[in-house]
Amino acid sequence: MRWYFIRFLSGLIHDIVQHSEEGYPEEVCGVMLSPSDTSDLVISLRRMKNSHDGPRQSRYSIDPMELYAADNEATKEGMLIVGIYHSHPDSPAKPSKFDLDHSFPWYKYVITSVVEGKVKDTRCWAMNNDRTAFMEEAIVEVEIRK
Ligand SMILES: [Zn+2]
Repeated sequence: MRWYFIRFLSGLIHDIVQHSEEGYPEEVCGVMLSPSDTSDLVISLRRMKNSHDGPRQSRYSIDPMELYAADNEATKEGMLIVGIYHSHPDSPAKPSKFDLDHSFPWYKYVITSVVEGKVKDTRCWAMNNDRTAFMEEAIVEVEIRK
């Protein structure tokens, strides 16, 4: 079964927006975590360092060792990395060709568009199975009742 939307615990999209604006004009990135038994609800985020060694205004990369460490930590906490978010300073919240070439079909990708320091758009994308294109998925924020 395939999900055509992604659910976020209320407040997390705000955290992604804040991170994106803080990092402007560079791209920022982070991972999205779900409980390992329900992979469609994002309950937590971890900021990652943009370790791209060229201009970070238009590229991001996550050090594989940092991703590996985050993955291990998530496992210990009963969670799973289900996606990666990053920002697009002064460009649309759509995956670039570079993003397509450097993405994995098992992750969801949230992209924010940051225009003059303010997030104007936030979208979620998932790859199709032959890894040739991204399809948009709706972002749904949910409240958890205590
Ligand atoms: Zn990108």
